[in-house]
Amino acid sequence: CQCSKYSGIVEDCCCDYETVDRLNEEVLHPLLQELVKTAFFRYFKVKLWCDCPFWPDDGMCRLRDCSVCECPESEFPEPFRRPHSGLSQDDLICQEGKPQAAVDRTIDSKAFRGWTVTDNPWTNDDETDNSEMTYVNLQLNPERYTGYAGPSARRIWDAVYSENCPKYPSEESCQEEKILYKLISGLHSSISIHIAGDYLLDEARNLWGQNLSLMYDRVLQYPDRVRNLYFTFLFVLRAVTKAADYLEYAEYDTGNLTEDLRTMSLMRQLLFNPKLKAACPIPYDEAKLWRGQRGPELKQKIQQQFRNISALMDCVGCEKCRLWGKLQVLGLGTALKILFSVDGQEQLGQTLHLQRNEVIALMNLLTRLSESLKIVHEMGPSVEKIMEGQ
Ligand code: FAD
Repeated sequence: CQCSKYSGIVEDCCCDYETVDRLNEEVLHPLLQELVKTAFFRYFKVKLWCDCPFWPDDGMCRLRDCSVCECPESEFPEPFRRPHSGLSQDDLICQEGKPQAAVDRTIDSKAFRGWTVTDNPWTNDDETDNSEMTYVNLQLNPERYTGYAGPSARRIWDAVYSENCPKYPSEESCQEEKILYKLISGLHSSISIHIAGDYLLDEARNLWGQNLSLMYDRVLQYPDRVRNLYFTFLFVLRAVTKAADYLEYAEYDTGNLTEDLRTMSLMRQLLFNPKLKAACPIPYDEAKLWRGQRGPELKQKIQQQFRNISALMDCVGCEKCRLWGKLQVLGLGTALKILFSVDGQEQLGQTLHLQRNEVIALMNLLTRLSESLKIVHEMGPSVEKIMEGQ
């Protein structure tokens, strides 16, 4: 039997494993694959050379597969190069408050008034344009095995887990405290799946392929890591669907009208997909959180922890891992901003404002998670069978 051992509702979410796999297979994965190839979504702005704020740099690794090929300025879309004319903090206005719940399930639907330049409060990076930023064509720099491992990589993951999101024993902690651990663990699973899914099998012949035993050793043999991957996927998917009306009105201008119309069409097919709406309308219910007396305090604590995790990405000693680490942490930070918003304080009635780069990170993160889910769903049962039969 090739059946998955995961069934029932994904923990703390509102959809079951079978439905998520089916929706991913039929709708999300194919659309996302097309979306991230478009000019709007394939260029990511990033500061790759920054000092690690926590310990002296141990030197960027010199492995061949760690290097990132940056774009010449002429390659990336002209509107991305223009000085920002978007919104600043002073332009932000408030909506009427909605006092029923601590977290509002809706977002001002016609809120898009240009990309904002205001930094994401959940992340550490200064995202404002400056000469240290480069544009990277993500399609030319896929997330895959790079050879980055050993004490440098271990130190980052250890710092992420031990300092910033300790694993709380489930019976003793509330949902809010577990969220950060689950999100990071889900992201870690996805990174490991991509390493194992696109692995350098034979250096001499430059032969790349799947390393199934690595996939098993790092992820599949730990059911909680697989569950956390599904959780992170649904969490990010919920952020995207919550911001659907905003994202529908956003500006996907790259200077190529035909391509931009296609980007908009793909976004609409994703955001308002009837199959998704029917089978999994609210992938994750964020309104359940931050309700108790400790809600605001907890939210601020978690925001600070997430900012630390974001700062740790500057310590990743491999350029390509750093690129994808920064992108995916910004994507998660954007999901957190959409779902719990803005300053870790009371969020009611605030209008959403996103940076272009945040949306690029968010959709690329969702695509990475969707690919990981597909691999786990398709390969998981047979890999487990082989490995456990040994
Ligand atoms: P690691 O993956 O380093 O895990 C360290 C420890 O964390 C494990 O021993 C386990 O206790 C725990 N752990 C592992 N997975 C989970 C999980 N899902 N949930 C909870 N706990 C877990 N390498 C590449 O080749 N390509 C990349 O693109 C890449 N990107 C990276 C991005 C970042 C931000 C970082 C920090 C590292 C990246 N690496 C990348 C390195 C890679 O993640 C591993 O660190 C490396 O391959 C060594 O793996 P390992 O077996 O020591 O275990």
